[in-house]
Amino acid sequence: MNGKGKMKITCGTDIIEIERIQKSIEKLGEKFLQTIFTEDEIAYCEARKAQKYQHYAARFAAKEAAFKALSGNLKGGMNWQLFEVKKEKDGKPKLAIKCNVKDLENVDISISHCKQYATANVVATWKESAQFFDSHAHYNDEKFDEDRETVIQQIHNENITKMVCIGYDIESSQFAVKIADQYDFIYATVGISPNDIDNLQIAEIDKIRALAKNNKVVAIGEIGLDYYWNKENKKSQQEFFVKQIELADELDLPIVIHCRDAVMDTLEILKHRINPKKRGIFHCCMLNKELIKEAVKLGFYISFSGNITFKNAKAKEAIEEVPLDKILIETDSPYLTPEPLRGQRNDSQNVKLVAEKIAEIKGLKVEEIAKISYENAERIYQIQNKIYKEPRFKKIKQQK
Ligand SMILES: [Zn+2]
Repeated sequence: MNGKGKMKITCGTDIIEIERIQKSIEKLGEKFLQTIFTEDEIAYCEARKAQKYQHYAARFAAKEAAFKALSGNLKGGMNWQLFEVKKEKDGKPKLAIKCNVKDLENVDISISHCKQYATANVVATWKESAQFFDSHAHYNDEKFDEDRETVIQQIHNENITKMVCIGYDIESSQFAVKIADQYDFIYATVGISPNDIDNLQIAEIDKIRALAKNNKVVAIGEIGLDYYWNKENKKSQQEFFVKQIELADELDLPIVIHCRDAVMDTLEILKHRINPKKRGIFHCCMLNKELIKEAVKLGFYISFSGNITFKNAKAKEAIEEVPLDKILIETDSPYLTPEPLRGQRNDSQNVKLVAEKIAEIKGLKVEEIAKISYENAERIYQIQNKIYKEPRFKKIKQQK
């Protein structure tokens, strides 16, 4: 599975008892016909004289089969008049659809009838569409408590086919693992962020170690230094950062770094890491060309979020600095909503806006950035070999 979608095909089949249709027409007459069939269909069937019920039944079956094949991308419920069976000059039936069906490339139809039954088959082929990997989001945040399952279902429908739910303290890490366990397309990270170390003993990292044993955990994070929010406890922040880097080394996991107003100290710690082969991600990258240059030199991936779309953001020179094979895209949902949606709660669908901005600056298509960043994320999180399965949407309850 990579950033490009596989061609999707959906089918619908229906078998209709001709007698059932005949009885309905005899009983309900015009009213029934006009609800189900178009004027052209009625004219066509009526002209078949003795055979007319077979033809009505075949069209009835075709409409039901079409609804089954297309329902995932149709807005609203079943409307019989949306579909019309036409006979082409070559004698083959064709399905006319009287509304726009999102991403539909082609639809094939076959109908037949014998004495008792009419059958119809509809095969829909869908356009290949770009798929996105949101490398950093917080569906464990309380801002999703009201509608978490609905949003997760929606983002998956919108081609966000992989996502990493990021922990930032012990409780949110537990919840990230729980969410990842419920949804095949979601992975988790566990870690204690520099803004969440108050009242914690360093020994509590053992709880992160225990959580990291879950096979959906793909990194230790987010960890790092934040001197913007907390200047008073720099030593303690550094201790938690280093200990968790050691933990990542021990478990052979990459790290997800949160760094704010602490570039020099962060780079200093990374340069003297115990195992220089271990890599990670600078998340929500500060648009600082020098930091990016150093981070890339150390082999780190750079993850861009909605802040590259903000006015005055130095997005251009920052994005230009990152080689394509090190670029990731993320939303940091529910925060950092990109323009033009700034102010609303963020969710993973908006990772497309981040991809658009990068595509514009790199002079590539959005689909190309989607594919490249997808493969990069699979590589750094070491999940490229895991088999993609259709998601199971089970109920999740947060335990507090
Ligand atoms: Zn975050």
